Amino acid sequence: MSWRGTYHPPHSADKLDAELTLVDQVVRLETMHGHYEWPLSVISVSVPLGNLPMVITFPEGQTFTSDESLSLANALGGARKGRVVHWLEQHWLAILASLLVVVGLVILLFSHGLPALSRGLVPLVPDEVPRQIGQKTRDTLDEHMLSPTQLSQSTQVRVQQQFDTLVAQLPTLPVEPRLLFRQWEDTANALALSDGTVIVTDSLVNLAETPEQLNSILLHEIGHLAHQHTLKSLIRATLISTTVALLTGESTGLADNLLGGGVFLLTQGYSRDDEREADTYANRHMVAIYGNAKAMKTMFERLSKANSDATPLEWLSTHPGIQERIDAIESSP
Ligand SMILES: [Zn+2]
Repeated sequence: MSWRGTYHPPHSADKLDAELTLVDQVVRLETMHGHYEWPLSVISVSVPLGNLPMVITFPEGQTFTSDESLSLANALGGARKGRVVHWLEQHWLAILASLLVVVGLVILLFSHGLPALSRGLVPLVPDEVPRQIGQKTRDTLDEHMLSPTQLSQSTQVRVQQQFDTLVAQLPTLPVEPRLLFRQWEDTANALALSDGTVIVTDSLVNLAETPEQLNSILLHEIGHLAHQHTLKSLIRATLISTTVALLTGESTGLADNLLGGGVFLLTQGYSRDDEREADTYANRHMVAIYGNAKAMKTMFERLSKANSDATPLEWLSTHPGIQERIDAIESSP
């Protein structure tokens, strides 16, 4: 296809008759002074306005105006679209690879970026936040699940003394642990809240045959406090809900989620890594204080027998698999 028009050389008022042809992706211009060729990608085309002719500008400043603007504009537009399709055809592998990279990055952000980000943010959170959330969580648990302890005063005093002695033997913790006795039906359980509260249920106290056995479970809870797992998980959950709110534009309930986060996390349980870290902490201090972690292994076994319930709340949870955790105690010194 070819179009007739006028050629203007650069820096000159000359006007020459010319003929433009378009072959594949190459624009060829034929004038009485000779011919020129440019790839379609380097020329710029003015949008035809009303009756004004379309102007094609070449890299060195030469221009070409055509009397058949509309037909030329369509041809060039078609060729350019073809170029995009052609490019897509040639680069489908690169496009697919970029898509996979983006998907991979999103997965990485959630699997590695968020935990790392949560860890990094922990020191920036004012102490008031874990204190408030711990209190809120405790209130919610007291309202819905826990009831006052039925343990005798002397038992409470004895366990409290054992706990104080235990804590005195540990390195300084980011929050001061405080023991709280509660009854939760007849479930043997213990859980740590972000403000340092360690709730221990009557059934757990009764399940332990020795102070070492009870302390092994309390050490696991203190391990969660030492590693600030509650706060990290809370930040992680907040980042996820904020991200979801930003992506979906759904922000109602975000504040509720933040406040309810403490309770939400307890019911969701910690991550497997968090549990392993808390187990390792307990194991290490059992060995340091008692010479071995036998009481911890016994207590894990007693707990898994006592709580066949599948409710995912700390010691009722079977994740990461109580047997796997018992094996881990055996294999360590
Ligand atoms: Zn735990």
